[in-house]
Amino acid sequence: MADCLFCSIVAGDIPADVVLSTDTVVAFRDIEPQAPTHVLVIPKVHYENIGALGAEDPALAGHLADAARQVAEADGIGDAYRLVFNTGAGAGQSVFHVHGHVLGGRDLTWPPG
Ligand code: 5GP
Ligand code: ZN
Repeated sequence: MADCLFCSIVAGDIPADVVLSTDTVVAFRDIEPQAPTHVLVIPKVHYENIGALGAEDPALAGHLADAARQVAEADGIGDAYRLVFNTGAGAGQSVFHVHGHVLGGRDLTWPPG
């Protein structure tokens, strides 16, 4: 999709610290990490948010969850990590290409802010 930051990362037009790439999914480290592990997992095709992805391609949503698991295990936090999909500007979404935040490596409090 034109003018989408994460589509540009998928295309290789904007550099990223990629930690996993499959036929359908890419994972790369967040540019402003909020935890020792902070990786974004995204589908290569553009969906606006996790709701749209889950409704239109639930198998791909599953691939995203499995990619998050692989990323967490590779970073040694497979036993304790958080997978967050901010959905909508009011919930903190700022990039409108669905992405799961894989967070871990420190104590994570609940409820989130
Ligand atoms: P959101 O606020 O939409 O849930 O998350 C967007 C995330 O993308 C933020 O955590 C932000 O730090 C990250 N981000 C924004 N621009 C870039 C970029 O150019 N490269 C990378 N790797 N992460 C980015
Ligand atoms: Zn996109």
